[in-house]
Amino acid sequence: MTARACGGVQDKNSQSHPEQLQGLDGFHPEDVRMNKQQVIILGSTGSIGESALSVLSELADAFEVVGLAGGSQWQKLAQQARYWNPKFVALADADHQDSLKELLPDGCQLIDGDDSLTRLVEAVECDCVISAVVGAAGLPATLRAVQLGRKVALANKEPLVIAGELMMKTAERTGATILPIDSEHSAVFQALQAGQHDDVERIVLTASGGPFRDASEEELENATVESALNHPTWSMGPKITIDSATMMNKALEIIEARWLFDFESEQIDVVIHPESILHSMVEFCDGSVIAQMGTPDMRTPIQYALTYPRRYPCPASRLSLTDLGQLTFSEPDTHRFPSLRLGHQVATQGGSTGAVFNAANEVCNDLFRLGKIGFCDIVRLTEEVLNTHERRNNPTLEELIDADNWARQEVETLRASSPIKKTR
Ligand code: NAD
Ligand code: MG
Repeated sequence: MTARACGGVQDKNSQSHPEQLQGLDGFHPEDVRMNKQQVIILGSTGSIGESALSVLSELADAFEVVGLAGGSQWQKLAQQARYWNPKFVALADADHQDSLKELLPDGCQLIDGDDSLTRLVEAVECDCVISAVVGAAGLPATLRAVQLGRKVALANKEPLVIAGELMMKTAERTGATILPIDSEHSAVFQALQAGQHDDVERIVLTASGGPFRDASEEELENATVESALNHPTWSMGPKITIDSATMMNKALEIIEARWLFDFESEQIDVVIHPESILHSMVEFCDGSVIAQMGTPDMRTPIQYALTYPRRYPCPASRLSLTDLGQLTFSEPDTHRFPSLRLGHQVATQGGSTGAVFNAANEVCNDLFRLGKIGFCDIVRLTEEVLNTHERRNNPTLEELIDADNWARQEVETLRASSPIKKTR
């Protein structure tokens, strides 16, 4: 059995965490400062990273930012460093590490080099690593945090898609706790606390359906980058916004849930819920369905991952069901959105398929945004790469990285061998 986020794993840091939040309940700030929770944010310049900083600014009595890391936005990272005064900063983009260094405040050290995010995780014995890099790029540092037994507040779902089995087994061995930030998984995590793992019949992930929920097949074929980036309910980074339009995001989330909560693929269903109010639910064997609801604001699941098992006031706006009037639900259309079928396929097959699926999707998502392939080519090419792959079971990290590299190359090989329509 693998470790899972749903209460099966002891939080190594739990003796210090909830108590330290007593600072919010009126402890003298000087008493609390000694025991503040130390937090690193990987991907602090992105959409989740900035929301995490907004949450932390409300909880400043209880948390201290000790490390910030980003990909390429070095000026924004410098601004954040001057405001938050972390001990360390890391930037993936080697070309701008020197420029960043000049803008850092006194006492803030730049960690440079190719593996700077991983070395940042190693540099500080922090209480929590917020993993909010986008894509496979976040895997090495996130896995390192798990290897070191840290509490990981996980937004970056791709590492679990690529290496879910390895990450969860590692967490079980090291005592690391992985707490989901993804809103659906946060909802499932909360709902699971109402019963035992063995008494769960199925989990139901909700999906907004994205901007093309009601689009015809022809409209999907001709979808432009601009229209695909126009998400109806969530404001997010560009990669996940395109993933939401193709519903690849939900496919990734099926795989994420499979590993995080240790359920079989057949126990994970998806329902379309355009309002994005009911964030997901768990159905137990007695027929009881436990759901978590709230306005669509990522600050709520981010804060819950940080303060778990306690809850504190959050700046996200409150939900009024009477103002909303109604919530709607419908079956997803796997004909127009075959990505959902692929998500279940990969969650069933496991092994190296997650790495291949994720890598092919990442490349195709990029190619679409660059106007080099059409919208439907994203899923089409990803499926072709997946079906060409010879699966390896129980892959090592090296084998997963090889599978990822192979899939990226295979997308190019397929593009070279068959004519691909460009977007308009
Ligand atoms: P984003 O594009 O807004 O931000 C990504 C962050 O990763 C930035 O800080 C960027 O600098 C950094 N980054 C990019 N490439 C990097 C690299 N090679 N090395 C190091 N850092 C790099 O993305 P986002 O929307 O904040 O999403 C982040 C993750 O959270 C994704 O995995 C996404 O699926 C997940 N997520 C996001 C949301 C949301 O509302 N945005 C919701 C649920 C889950
Ligand atoms: Mg989600």
